[in-house]
Amino acid sequence: MAWAVAMRFHVLTIFPGMFDGPLSESIIARAIERGLVEVNLHDIRDFAKDRHRSVDDYPYGGGYGMVMKPEPIFDAVRSVSTEASLGDSVPVILLTPQGTPLTQPIAEHLATYEDLVMICGRYEGVDERVRERVATCELSIGDYVLSGGELAAMIVIDAVTRLIPGAVGSIESTEDDSFSTGLLQFPQYTRPHVYEDCEVPEVLLSGNHAEIERWRRRESLRRTLERRPELLGHADLTEEEREFVEALREERDSTN
Ligand code: SAM
Repeated sequence: MAWAVAMRFHVLTIFPGMFDGPLSESIIARAIERGLVEVNLHDIRDFAKDRHRSVDDYPYGGGYGMVMKPEPIFDAVRSVSTEASLGDSVPVILLTPQGTPLTQPIAEHLATYEDLVMICGRYEGVDERVRERVATCELSIGDYVLSGGELAAMIVIDAVTRLIPGAVGSIESTEDDSFSTGLLQFPQYTRPHVYEDCEVPEVLLSGNHAEIERWRRRESLRRTLERRPELLGHADLTEEEREFVEALREERDSTN
């Protein structure tokens, strides 16, 4: 089947080679091969002004480390925007541990765009003026510090690509993924039926789809309550499901 390009990622980095592995395997590689996704890598050093291709400099005010200079990043974003004829509404994402934590709803929102620009920082980070004047949003992939934004950009590419119709076998398979429903996903099993004395729950072998659905939903609720109870506050639950969660809570509290 022929698909139209659904998403173009424009990544600004000083290490384009880091993307070789992740882009050449599995779902992303297939999406690129099918023409569903394009990943355009732009080396920020190509926009440096001096013969050493410098992209960093000492921090004003002193201190350790280096900071990424503003000019090559401003120029790289302008060049990509012009070359790819990007409109003003295209998100320019600065990857930074200080950004909004990436979540599934954010990935779903990003998947609605046709183009995304991502800036990968290095060293002590990027000059603040990039954040102020170039970036339209800032994303973090978690409360820890990486050496650079490349791995974070790859995570955004992966999370967004799998939401593009045609990228995974069936788009429905992403719909009950953890967080997509607002809950953690139910436990999954495959053959064999018994492995080292451990059996697959009988209901999954029953062929009764209504019962299987009910079991999965309840296990999803149970698992979310055990591991990420804060998610339940925002989840869309029926009255019966609320009562089920309440019963689980009472059971848990009475055994503690
Ligand atoms: N000094 C910066 C700070 O404390 O906020 C951290 C700089 S970090 C060593 C270098 C680059 O890695 C950042 O500019 C950013 O692009 C990327 N990075 C590090 N951790 C990240 C995270 N959790 N999410 C997204 N990008 C991250």
